[in-house]
Amino acid sequence: MADTIFQKIIDGEAEADIVHEDDRCVAFRDRNPVAPTHILIVPRKPIPGLDDLADEDADLIGHLHVVARDIAREEGLRDGYRTVINTGDDGGQTVWHLHLHLIGGRRMEWPPG
Ligand code: AMP
Repeated sequence: MADTIFQKIIDGEAEADIVHEDDRCVAFRDRNPVAPTHILIVPRKPIPGLDDLADEDADLIGHLHVVARDIAREEGLRDGYRTVINTGDDGGQTVWHLHLHLIGGRRMEWPPG
């Protein structure tokens, strides 16, 4: 897999506002936030996108959501929030290292654009 900006952040070669780190993922604030809270939760494992996920990675995807829940509590998102994984060109994915968006602090709309 090509070296992405997220891999550089994980490896400590690029700066980011990191809010959480553990043995399986790193979470940092999006540099172009679309809401008052916008955090990206990124697995250390270099999986390009959701479509590349192996069955054995099911626990990892679950872990990203547990981390999202904990960060949402820390961020005080008591009225709700949204988690999103953009997949592929039609899904709006721009960085080819799997990541979960945690977005909150304002009322979300549906359907998304
Ligand atoms: P996606 O379009 O789902 O692939 O999301 C990629 C996200 O990464 C976008 O919301 C970008 O604003 C964000 N992003 C790209 N580069 C950086 C960076 N260096 N630090 C933080 N967020 C970034």
